[in-house]
Amino acid sequence: MALTGIQILGMLPKTNCGECNIPTCLAFAMKVAAGQTEIETCPYVSDEAKETIGAANAPPIRTIKIGAGDAEFIAGGETCLYRHDKRFENQTGLAVMIATDEDAAEVDAKLKRANDIVIERVGVMMCNNLVAVKDAGGGDLAAMAKKVIEMAPKQAIILMSDNVESLKAGAEACGDNKPLLYGATADNVDDFAALAKDTGCAIGVKGKNMDDLVETTDKLIAAGVKDMVIDTGARTIRGAYEDNIVARRAAVKDRFKPLGFPTITFPCEMADDLMMEAMIGSVLLARYAAITVFSDIQGETIFPLMLEQLNIFTDPQRPMVVEEDIYPVGGPDENSPVLMTCNFSLTYFIVSGEIEGSKVPSWLLIKDTEGLSVLTAWAAGKFGADLIAMFVNKSGIADKVKHRELIIPGYLATIQGELEEELADWTITIGPREAGHLPAFLKEWKPAS
Ligand code: SF4
Repeated sequence: MALTGIQILGMLPKTNCGECNIPTCLAFAMKVAAGQTEIETCPYVSDEAKETIGAANAPPIRTIKIGAGDAEFIAGGETCLYRHDKRFENQTGLAVMIATDEDAAEVDAKLKRANDIVIERVGVMMCNNLVAVKDAGGGDLAAMAKKVIEMAPKQAIILMSDNVESLKAGAEACGDNKPLLYGATADNVDDFAALAKDTGCAIGVKGKNMDDLVETTDKLIAAGVKDMVIDTGARTIRGAYEDNIVARRAAVKDRFKPLGFPTITFPCEMADDLMMEAMIGSVLLARYAAITVFSDIQGETIFPLMLEQLNIFTDPQRPMVVEEDIYPVGGPDENSPVLMTCNFSLTYFIVSGEIEGSKVPSWLLIKDTEGLSVLTAWAAGKFGADLIAMFVNKSGIADKVKHRELIIPGYLATIQGELEEELADWTITIGPREAGHLPAFLKEWKPAS
């Protein structure tokens, strides 16, 4: 059971020294209990207390790292069943499978697509996350792993084999880019436990069914293996869907350790058609799959899955924001218009898109409104004339343009007078209420004389 704030407080020095950047030990304890700060932030907690609190408050689904640097993929770390309970921590990884006996040209083409298909959406770069290399017998797993690193250097790697020596050689070929080594079963538990210790890699565990999986992970835990990704063996959409739910509920609600690991699923083994695989993947993505493996990657199948990732794994308690700054759109100069809006990502991308479409190069000032939209931010006191004036004065926009005209969103018309008082050197112009009307507005715009 996770410790409460009061229980954690009992293990703190209670000196309220503030060195953790939180004024009191009680407030610190509450934040640790809520998972908002780490117990290590207090320099005065004993090692024993750190271990007790760390173990009790660890997420029920263990966090697993695969790969390193640009190729790092993080799975698990989940603490809840529903996103609205808190948030989902790490998005489902999209993986493409290649096999050691696969036609070389086909492998190259898949790796090129895994590397090249990158889609930007509201400022987020979305791409395939992992490459699974399957030992088809007789092929060279290590050579194929090297090829993945060479051709798709930002992809984390899963090596799949029954042969522990091949996996070991493959892991060595990956160097610091530690792969997930998949294939532990009830029959080879001891070999995989030794492999995990030798390589420091996470282990993929495959059960014949849920019971068999639990028995196997139990043995691996007893052997000291900590980092695992689990596969219940289900190869039907219904079976995998139900197993994912059972595993998540058991881990989160009952703190059942043998299932407290991220899950890997294989739509590539449930359908013969890539579009059907994508459909199955979308169901499993929506219900707790940490990794979904597909037989191929094509723009039209991965795009909807990426959008689904974006929908499910954004934090519902934190609006998506862009940095407060001056954004040049379309190569503006000293005579270009200056517009201002809030830093809610969607607003930024819609407004900048309309400016770009207008072909009128402009300066776009983005004011930090904590991710609130224009009207909400104004109503919340985060987009008032005084705050806007302060931002305009410190932004440096006055050095970039010769004129002194600021175009504000139409919804802020009521603060025009107040803003003119705050920014005495500037003319305040009311822009359109809707971004869609910006192109026509900008085409007509001339600096106020
Ligand atoms: S650093 Fe430790 S002792 Fe000091 S206030 Fe924070 S929790 Fe309390």
